[in-house]
Amino acid sequence: MEITFLGTNGWFDTHTGATSCVFLNTKEAYIVLDCGSGFYKVPSLLKEDKPIFLLLTHLHLDHICALQMLPLLKNKNLTIIVVGKQQKEDLQKFMQLPFMPTAKMLGIKIAEIEEIKNKLPFKVEYYELAHAVKTFGYKIFAESKIVAYGLDSGLCENILHLVKDSDLFICECSYLPNQEPDFNHLNPKAAALIAKEAKAKLLALIHFKADVYDTFEKRDLALLCAGEHFEKVFAPYDGDIITI
Ligand SMILES: [Zn+2]
Ligand SMILES: [Zn+2]
Repeated sequence: MEITFLGTNGWFDTHTGATSCVFLNTKEAYIVLDCGSGFYKVPSLLKEDKPIFLLLTHLHLDHICALQMLPLLKNKNLTIIVVGKQQKEDLQKFMQLPFMPTAKMLGIKIAEIEEIKNKLPFKVEYYELAHAVKTFGYKIFAESKIVAYGLDSGLCENILHLVKDSDLFICECSYLPNQEPDFNHLNPKAAALIAKEAKAKLLALIHFKADVYDTFEKRDLALLCAGEHFEKVFAPYDGDIITI
């Protein structure tokens, strides 16, 4: 499975990157995790005729701001997946005039995960995480690999279930090494300790909060800090690709 990190900033865009979006190219489908500003590169990656599933963790704007670019994918067999009735209703409130065209106008489907999960060409589990608003991490099972996507989240028991035995754990790293993790966000050490305890094979740090991670050097320091607790860690830049 090929994974492209399209947006690695948290909160807002700066010279270090765009906001959260990760693109999974699997045999049966394209899976897009979150719709931050990095999403604008998705249309150029759709080389084959496969369904596209866009999974949203929560509706903070840094995770959904690129929904306004969906006219680029009009009638392209795209389904947006959210968790829970409330998230679906809230998303529909956002995806309407005068803010943007509705899903119906764009020929796009919105599905609550329980309505669709048995019909998907991959297996997915979801776990509620610790955050200021309802937020869910996704565990994707495809091509005999497990990808755990855990953001935004603070410290909680569920993130360990999400990450358990994953081949790749994509984790948020909002805080600097000297900022304590809390109910909202994590720092590099906390991310590394979760990866270690849950026996992930590889850890990718993204969602570097733009106001505090204002240079790439600060990301390098975060990586060093995480590496003291979990060896197999990297911090991709926007556009980086890995295969697992
Ligand atoms: Zn965020
Ligand atoms: Zn958030």
